[in-house]
Amino acid sequence: MTRYIFITGGVVSSLGKGITASSLGRLLKSRGIAVSIQKLDPYINVDPGTMNPYQHGEVFVTEDGAETDLDLGHYERFIDVNLSKANNVTAGMAYWSVITRERRGDYLGGTIQVVPHITNEIKDRIRVVTKEKAFDVVICEIGGTVGDIEGLPFLEAIRQFRKEVGRENCINIHVTLVPLLETTHEFKTKPTQHSVMKLREIGIQPEIIICRSRTPISLELKEKISLFCDVDKEAVIGLADVPSLYEVPLALEKEGLDDIVLKYLDLPVKRGDLSGWEKMVEQMKQPEKKVRIAIIGKYTELEDSYISIVESLKHGGLSNSAAIEIKWVNAERLEGEGDIEPIMRDIHGVVVPGGFGPRGIEGKIKAIKYARENNLPFLGLCLGMQCAVIEFARNVCRMKGANSSEFDAKTKFPVIDLMSEQKGVEEKGGTMRLGAYPCRIKKGTRLHAIYNEDEVMERHRHRFEVNNDLRSQLAEAGLVFSGIYHKADLVEVIELPLHPWFLATQYHPEFKSRPTRPHPIFASFIAAAAKRLEEQVVLFKS
Ligand code: GLN
Repeated sequence: MTRYIFITGGVVSSLGKGITASSLGRLLKSRGIAVSIQKLDPYINVDPGTMNPYQHGEVFVTEDGAETDLDLGHYERFIDVNLSKANNVTAGMAYWSVITRERRGDYLGGTIQVVPHITNEIKDRIRVVTKEKAFDVVICEIGGTVGDIEGLPFLEAIRQFRKEVGRENCINIHVTLVPLLETTHEFKTKPTQHSVMKLREIGIQPEIIICRSRTPISLELKEKISLFCDVDKEAVIGLADVPSLYEVPLALEKEGLDDIVLKYLDLPVKRGDLSGWEKMVEQMKQPEKKVRIAIIGKYTELEDSYISIVESLKHGGLSNSAAIEIKWVNAERLEGEGDIEPIMRDIHGVVVPGGFGPRGIEGKIKAIKYARENNLPFLGLCLGMQCAVIEFARNVCRMKGANSSEFDAKTKFPVIDLMSEQKGVEEKGGTMRLGAYPCRIKKGTRLHAIYNEDEVMERHRHRFEVNNDLRSQLAEAGLVFSGIYHKADLVEVIELPLHPWFLATQYHPEFKSRPTRPHPIFASFIAAAAKRLEEQVVLFKS
């Protein structure tokens, strides 16, 4: 029998519900419990794949090719499992299914309503998580904040769900904010009380309340919340801000969250082993050096747009006892005639991430040229790889005006071109080359040394590819195609053997890095950046 933990949020958004769900997942997993985490998103988009990163942050891609909420990235990193399409459900998906069935005439003339049709669809989609694999516990995070109009069908669905699977098999956790009033230096519990009242209005009584606050809250305050919100004293869990998100599981364990969850769900209390996680956090806290990595992107004002890359860089840092300082560079700032040396001088590695559309492309190409010519470690990801090919074609192969046909349909040298399977695709949602495909690795290359494997599976999200008609010219000039998707002869990875570290992937390795298992590409890239730092220090000393 699967147990369900529903996590809702109150008072304000951005409380770290996703990290809380992930952390609870990690705590349960460390106690030998098979756990999966699902995100329910109340927005009407079918998935975040078509949304602007400034609206939504990164789009996380699963192994089976779903474009999902970035919280799934946290779930995967914390519980170290591959999730699937089933783990992210949106209102758009639920409505889409119901309306499609209505058009087909499946409802035999009935009136279609939010309750029961949409709520039934949501409940069915919660059940799908355990369809192919059994889990002891499914944690289900409901996006948004209690009180949002669009969240209501989801809250109603989890209310009904509880009755259907048995009250003893479900608990509700409410994550709220306990703000500190600057003027009186007092923590305030009223917003939490109101938020719980709002939940109760719709028939949900939380068993556990997790109180987010700037600094730890007192026992007295917890007692007050316990009294007013009708939860056990030990079920009021304090969660003050911590320096690193990887410390959250340890903070929650200290507060006894996993003990109380196991008690309420009547699960066997096995002793947990968090030692690996603790070691990782300790290591992260005591770096021996700090490397500075520039991310040259288009959405640099919202760090969440590149969250998996940032986390993967940190993981790479862990493998090298290095802390990572990110220098955010808006690609458009690099465009034009100006010298980019002052911006690039103090960094030890450059990342050009994925993206769409022409804005900032020339700035990215300029940064790549700088990295190539100045022996600066360079990692290109998806669009970053395509820009590296354009730069190489223009400046090494002398293909004047070389470009991707995504940005210049009339270029004489379309070194990056639409994949043949994409031709004629009109729909924007979910139609890219998505998810995991095998990449065959050429022996004797840097890529082979990095993975030490002949074939790997990596995740994709793109429409364009390296143009095979121009490949031989690029190869003759020294560009090495070290990873290939064999079935369609698609370039997956490029590298420059004479450069200290210049490698770029069509796929997104950042979706598979875990703090406990840093991705080898990021580990190797940070090692090269650390070497660059060392060289600079030597240069400085001499
Ligand atoms: N715009 C490019 C493509 O569609 C790159 C996509 C990406 O970086 N995810 O191929």
